[in-house]
Amino acid sequence: MSGQRPTVVHTVEELRAAVAEVRRGGRSIGLVPTMGALHRGHASLVDAAVRDRHFTVVSIFVNPAQFGPQEDYSRYPRTLDADLALLSQCRADLVFAPSVETMYGAGHSTYVELAGAAEPLEGERRPGHFRGVATVVLKLFLQCLPDVAYFGQKDFQQSLVIRQFVRELDVPVQIQVCPIVRDLDGLALSSRNVYLSAEQRSAALVLSRSLAHARDLVAQGQTDIARLLTVLKPLYAAAPLVQLEYLTVRDRVALAPLQQIDRPAVLLVAARVGTTRLIDNELLDPPG
Ligand code: AMP
Repeated sequence: MSGQRPTVVHTVEELRAAVAEVRRGGRSIGLVPTMGALHRGHASLVDAAVRDRHFTVVSIFVNPAQFGPQEDYSRYPRTLDADLALLSQCRADLVFAPSVETMYGAGHSTYVELAGAAEPLEGERRPGHFRGVATVVLKLFLQCLPDVAYFGQKDFQQSLVIRQFVRELDVPVQIQVCPIVRDLDGLALSSRNVYLSAEQRSAALVLSRSLAHARDLVAQGQTDIARLLTVLKPLYAAAPLVQLEYLTVRDRVALAPLQQIDRPAVLLVAARVGTTRLIDNELLDPPG
């Protein structure tokens, strides 16, 4: 069932005026930060905010500060019309779609610098990425002043980084992390999946298959991580279109390496399929 198209605002002043009025009416605010090219994964975050009865704001902003110089900023899909159609179905209340100039005025020079959860894995492979993410998310929090902000487990390390700066900078926003939404064949939905050819897309299924296999092995009692990876890595060796960047099991608090699944853990994978970089993950808990 389709609802009304949400109102779209482009400036911080309009956003502030809209949320202030909602607050005066006594309603809470939920924020869903996105880069657009929306899919059912994003929709699940909007659904969660609507279900929690917040006035639901969705931001759509392709944030240049989180892309490296060799990354896909200029070709990142921008599909505002289709995004608004999807958001009317989800009954989002307001869309904030600022320009780059609105978010980063001339000479912008203030950034959130992070260590801790931002250092390993994506932090090593995408220098400056989390600095860009944390800066834009903090700006969105200050512009919108939400009670709750919704993020996807799909970007697991990002969710840790956001929780970290919210905790350490005393940002008064509650963070909700929602489960990964997948296509029927298992591929985690991502705005970047449109880059994949049919052949690459089917090769990319090795990511979700390896994660599902790991979950089964752990359920059967395999908690030795080296042994687990010895079973999983050959799946990638058998997928020549897929270049594995990392496949690693970490603890869920600080992403510290583990030898055994003896506490809440997460299996994280990053791989390239052609020029497209994909990430996925699966939570692994000690059996029983
Ligand atoms: P993005 O537009 O890629 O920056 O993503 C915006 C938000 O949607 C982030 O919190 C992502 O983690 C979340 N997200 C992206 N893909 C999925 C997915 N397949 N399932 C659940 N959440 C997702």
